[in-house]
Amino acid sequence: MLNSSLQQLGSALRARKISSVELTRLYLDRIAALNPVLNAYITTNAEASLAQARDADARLAAGTADALTGIPVAQKDIFCAKGWRTTCGSKMLANFVSPYDAHVIEQFNNVGAVNLGKTNMDEFAMGSSNETSYFGAVKNPYSQDAVPGGSSGGSACAVAARLCAAATGTDTGGSIRQPAALCGISGLKPTYGTVSRYGMIAFASSLDQAGPMARSAEDLALMLNVMTGFDERDSTSLQRAKEDYARDLAKPLDGLRIGLPKEFFAEGLSNDVAQAVNAAIAEYKKLGASIVEISLPNSRLSVPVYYVLAPAEASSNLSRFDGVRYGYRAPEYSDLTDMYEKSRAQGFGAEVKRRIMIGTYVLSHGYYDAYYLQAQKIRRLIAQDFTDAFRQCDVIMGPTSPSTAFKLGEKGDDPVQMYLSDIYTIAVNLAGLPGMSIPCGFGAANNGNPGMPVGLQIIGNYFDEVRMLNVAHQYQLATDWHSRAPQEL
Ligand code: GLN
Repeated sequence: MLNSSLQQLGSALRARKISSVELTRLYLDRIAALNPVLNAYITTNAEASLAQARDADARLAAGTADALTGIPVAQKDIFCAKGWRTTCGSKMLANFVSPYDAHVIEQFNNVGAVNLGKTNMDEFAMGSSNETSYFGAVKNPYSQDAVPGGSSGGSACAVAARLCAAATGTDTGGSIRQPAALCGISGLKPTYGTVSRYGMIAFASSLDQAGPMARSAEDLALMLNVMTGFDERDSTSLQRAKEDYARDLAKPLDGLRIGLPKEFFAEGLSNDVAQAVNAAIAEYKKLGASIVEISLPNSRLSVPVYYVLAPAEASSNLSRFDGVRYGYRAPEYSDLTDMYEKSRAQGFGAEVKRRIMIGTYVLSHGYYDAYYLQAQKIRRLIAQDFTDAFRQCDVIMGPTSPSTAFKLGEKGDDPVQMYLSDIYTIAVNLAGLPGMSIPCGFGAANNGNPGMPVGLQIIGNYFDEVRMLNVAHQYQLATDWHSRAPQEL
């Protein structure tokens, strides 16, 4: 059961070979046993999950089930879910129980999926290692002294360790793709505007996008079918016809043109990642694809541009956490200003404060033109690079992350090193393009540590998710990296 695809689980449920209640219990028991070690979930609520499972069983019995009815899905703790504690990985929201559902949560509820719990994450989605979470770091299921990646590290860990059937994540600069790569699973960040941000706690609104995390491209397609859709409550939600993201999975890849950006294979890429990615490209050639060398000349500016724009937007978005309406309030203060200051000083962690200060600085009078406006202009050039590249190729491929999972604590004192973890993913967010990561091998084992998973990044043109999933699925038919699992703990 634990290794079944969503399609297989759905069939087993519809054939009444297993009930949703049984399946949900199976996962809840596993979470109870393994979460104390892995820390993938911040909150579970067995009563709420089992109530949904019972409803799903009624729907399955009535014959009105959807593809994901009764399937237990883990939700990143950035999505507000009615009646559920929703923390965003922060002390600021440690006791916040959401009075409403995010659009993504509603979509899963509508099809009768089971909310299995809320997954751990970097505080306010700021980080690449899950170490900024107020609820403690998540462990990589392949090696407990390594990070799972971030910020959707809890979801990635839960999928890899079979603590859920599939999960949701969000990706502002790489937070779906990088943890997917580091934990050996598949993850997809859709085109900006495809999944509604309503009820998804905002980090950098012009970059934030939710997407699915699962063990295979086929599973991602089924998840995406549920998550997408126009929502008038998000002003950047796109009004497009509903698509079936699984419709082209079976298409052969003959004639596919794969662009390899030379900047993604240059200095800074570790050898073991390069080897696995090159082997994957060789496999694609066997599947009928041709290779085009391309260039994304402005991509080297994506990290500095992101670390101006994302903090600028964050400083504004996070101003709502003031101790007044919801969230943490300092127990003692002298007056209103002191209450704001103490609540924010005590409620936010160090990385969040760093971003708020950077953001406030780059938006301040006198620096706005020099930093914020410049960054906006370069953002445009970065997007233009991709438009030019997609004249020569259908998809772009490269590594997701420059290295495999690093050790817990290794980059904690060096924010710039940490920021470089997203060097291959951030440009995709700046351009608003869809990107995904799929497992393509393992790095070198050393000092008794196992080889850690490597992710292949696939970047598509706007709204080309159907093709990306086809490209990923064909690779997964020819290889078995996606079905590897960590050793049982
Ligand atoms: N690691 C990046 C950051 O710290 C991206 C995070 C994300 O995508 N949410 O901002």
